[in-house]
Amino acid sequence: MKEWNEIKKRVKEVATRAYKEGLVAGTSGNVSYYDRESNKVFITPTNGDYLAMKPEDIVVINLDGEVVEGKFKPSSEWLLHVELYKHYDHVNSVIHTHSPYATGFAIVDEKIPLILVEMLPFLGGDIPVARFGMPGTSEVGLHAVDVMANRNAALLQNHGVVAVGNTPEQAYIRAIYVEDAAKAYHYAKLMGEPQMVPEKAQDILRERYNLKK
Ligand SMILES: [Zn+2]
Repeated sequence: MKEWNEIKKRVKEVATRAYKEGLVAGTSGNVSYYDRESNKVFITPTNGDYLAMKPEDIVVINLDGEVVEGKFKPSSEWLLHVELYKHYDHVNSVIHTHSPYATGFAIVDEKIPLILVEMLPFLGGDIPVARFGMPGTSEVGLHAVDVMANRNAALLQNHGVVAVGNTPEQAYIRAIYVEDAAKAYHYAKLMGEPQMVPEKAQDILRERYNLKK
């Protein structure tokens, strides 16, 4: 994914899908892709209307947040994205959502344990909660970095969700799995006592997918 227009199109497409899927409300949430070759981040604009958004509205910034191309300001949470790119070489795309069930757990400061087998290949395991960070500061990103060494997603305390991937589409699918797990866990808690995926199966799956605990 090298051509800038192609990158913008894919970031925009994922942002619109996230809105239609109900992972974000209003103009909240944001999506980005980091092109390591040009050292530029392609990110959704601040206060962008997801349904009216066009590929050319995606803002190109450097790692200091300076706009290289685009007529809008980058998402106010650009530092969350940049911190993840700086700390993790395997991360090339970030999506931040406020998907409702997962955000509920972020508000009660409760991680989502390993209750579904899909959580291993898609998310790397359970979904931890990153400590609260002031919106728009690098603190949000650094606290996410703290809990995401072996995870593809985290809850942001009193805020929402962050998921990462190699491509925007992969980060998006992982954000979908976060909300799916949060919803299932919510219902399971209403019905009884949720059980984790059996330990033995966890070990076998971790080995199969080459995952660390
Ligand atoms: Zn947010």
